[in-house]
Amino acid sequence: MSFTSLGLSPDLLKVLSDQHFTLATPIQQAAIPAILNKKDVFGIAKTGSGKTVSYVLPLLMNLKEAPKLKNRHVNALVLVPTRELAEQVKDVFKIFNKGLNVPVKAVAVYGGVSINPQMTALQGTNIVIATPGRLLELVASNAVSLSDIETLVLDEADKMLNLGFKEEVDKIISLLPQKRQNIFFSATLNADIQLIHQVILHDPLVIKIEEQEDSIEQIQQVAYIVSNENKGPFLRKLICSREMQQVLIFTSSVHAADAVVNKLRKNNFDAKAIHSKKSQGARTEALYLFKSGKLKILVATDLIGRGIDIDRLPFVINYELPRSPKDYVHRIGRTGRAEQIGEAISLVSPDELDHFEVIQKKMGKKVDLIYSENVV
Ligand code: ADP
Ligand code: MG
Repeated sequence: MSFTSLGLSPDLLKVLSDQHFTLATPIQQAAIPAILNKKDVFGIAKTGSGKTVSYVLPLLMNLKEAPKLKNRHVNALVLVPTRELAEQVKDVFKIFNKGLNVPVKAVAVYGGVSINPQMTALQGTNIVIATPGRLLELVASNAVSLSDIETLVLDEADKMLNLGFKEEVDKIISLLPQKRQNIFFSATLNADIQLIHQVILHDPLVIKIEEQEDSIEQIQQVAYIVSNENKGPFLRKLICSREMQQVLIFTSSVHAADAVVNKLRKNNFDAKAIHSKKSQGARTEALYLFKSGKLKILVATDLIGRGIDIDRLPFVINYELPRSPKDYVHRIGRTGRAEQIGEAISLVSPDELDHFEVIQKKMGKKVDLIYSENVV
């Protein structure tokens, strides 16, 4: 279905066509008209299916004619789990804002960088995209007021309502007006979100885009059984033998991410690590280089497992399995986005085999297991 019948203005349709977005994805078809009608929406659709545009476009439409608010009061709030995702979502707002006669101002705020420029940037802002901790700091220093928020978006909603964030997100929600539009988007669900959505969402339109049984797998998955000692050499052989032009490698700890990068560099592979112990400057640079194709190998923790969009990334490698089966789904979802194809390769040590069974069961898919001795 094209975007033309969804109720969007000609200026936004023009940007869509400039971006070569010709057909609306199923989640966009269902969510855009509902959000335009100020309905609460709970949208569940797989990674890479275009959930961002599903809320960015109707939010821009709804705010185009919004009355100018008092200083430091904002109209809409988008909460995300990571700094990198905050920047990425802001960039999507920016792209579509360019087409509007009167742009709607969107600002990203997050920790790890100095707070003063964010305080200044918040002047006259309509939309704030934030990680929870920094937003609360900004509220505490009166740099922003949430009391006029008309729309709240939780992107990666299951993560935002999970233990690590729940307290902060509850605090933020308590600062919002009772009467508001609530929008949740996620690729995965957990028991908490099922319960919480009944409390927060008001008569929501629940949109669940199921994967078609007969659809062609966009993400090819394979796993190799490799002992922990052999994972390093096996990884290097894999990168060469498959002629990987670009690959995102996940480890489960900061320490392992650094160790993998060190080993790769010693063997003349150009690699960088991204994880929570790096400075924000180093994080931003590594992701920028990778997204722009200047860096071939990025080794990451689950920090960038969620939401991060890398154009046409062909390969994801799980050097170690994630503890949570949901994180596996998010990690491999960095490839095979927007109808592209991609490959996810897991290096599974014998002691990880049972856990890999659990992951496959939760995901509802079987993955071919190959003994590495048979390959290298
Ligand atoms: P999700 O949040 O569902 O994981 P994103 O919103 O990050 O997915 O979108 C994934 C990719 O698909 C992005 O690169 C985005 O630009 C692209 N995309 C989104 N909607 C469309 C569309 N209708 N046509 C083509 N590409 C699209
Ligand atoms: Mg997303």
